[in-house]
Formats: sequence, C-alpha cells, structure tokens
Amino acid sequence: MGKYIGSKCRLCRREGQKLFLKGTRCTTHRCALDRREYAPGFHGKSQRVKLSNYGLQLREKQKVKRIYGLYEKQFRNYFAKAARSKGITGEVLLQFLERRLDSVLLNLGFCTSRQQARQYVGHGYVRVNNKKVNLASFLVKKNDEIALKFNKKGQQTIKDNLEVTKDRAVPAWLSLDKNQYMAKVVRLPERADITFPVNEQLIVELYSR
Ligand code: SF4
Repeated sequence: MGKYIGSKCRLCRREGQKLFLKGTRCTTHRCALDRREYAPGFHGKSQRVKLSNYGLQLREKQKVKRIYGLYEKQFRNYFAKAARSKGITGEVLLQFLERRLDSVLLNLGFCTSRQQARQYVGHGYVRVNNKKVNLASFLVKKNDEIALKFNKKGQQTIKDNLEVTKDRAVPAWLSLDKNQYMAKVVRLPERADITFPVNEQLIVELYSR
C-alpha cells in the first residue's frame, strides 16, 4: 500500500474545503486555499462543473478519508464494520473514526497534527489502561484511561502542544487532566460530538451502490 507523500494542501484544494491536514500550522501559516481557491492541476481554474450525485458522494467519502488520513481499503473496512454493527451505519462509521487512538490524541490537544499523533503512538509513548499501545488504529472504549509517558524533554513538548491547542474544545466524551497528561473516555462519541461538516449519508449511499 503506497504512502501519499504529496502536498496536503493539494488535497484540501481538491475538496474545496479546509481539512486542516497540517494541524495547527493551518492556522498559524497562510492557508493555501485562501490563496488559490480552485482545484489543483493544470485545468483546476477552469473546472467549475456541477457535480452529479455520484460525484457528490465520492467527494464526501474522499473528504472524510483524507481528514482521518486513511487509505481506501482501511476506510472501506471501517464502513463494512459499521454496516455490520447495530445503529445508523453513517454515524457508527464516524464513531469508529473518532475512537481511533490518533484521533483521540488530536482531540485532546496532546498533538498538533494527526501525523504527530501517529508518531507518538508508533514510538510507544502512549499507554491505554497502563498498557503500551503502539497502534494508531486502536479503538478506545468507555472508561479507558489514556496516558502519555515521556521523559522531561518530551513532557515539555506536550506542554507546548497543550498550550498551542488550548483554544480547541475537548469533546464532551473525553475528560482531560492536563497536569497529569492523562485522559479518560467518559462515554462513546455521539453524532453531535463530531463538529466538522460532513454528510455521512452520502458515503453510505456511495458504498451501497
Ligand atoms: Fe488545508 Fe489550508 Fe491546512 Fe493546507 S493550510 S492543509 S489547504 S487547511
């Protein structure tokens, strides 16, 4: 499975929306979408076609997939799992994505970008219920306790990250103890906890074709 190493801003421009793929750098630096508000590529400027139903569904799926930094196969697996679960498929899909460990670290403000969250998990800095977890796709559940174990230098980085992300509201389904670098999953995420604009029904329609 190939890794996308191209420009992140290009992905936002393709979707015509700010997806904040560079984390806090999206707010501290000038956003590429403000400068070039059209699709990337040679014909980007002239592409102003009205999307078909299929096009709308595809773009919505691509948008969510890119926000969570997933490959098609991984995304499809989440969808299949959501379709097999009880509940509204689209909502369960978003719930799975939010429950990923990298999403949780990002939501808590421990990290400034998803890439950094994955790095912390991959390097073994994250404990869930006192056990080291090095899989970014690990799904947290109710009452799980998440802690970061760092040396002094690392603690300063987390402190700095928490300072940078202090204006970002921690979702109600998580409780954060900034001083101990710990958090708890109070309950599972609900639809109302997902604040970025997404029409998950379009994704369900796309995969149900
Ligand atoms: Fe997207 Fe703007 Fe961030 Fe680039 S700077 S990743 S275009 S939100």
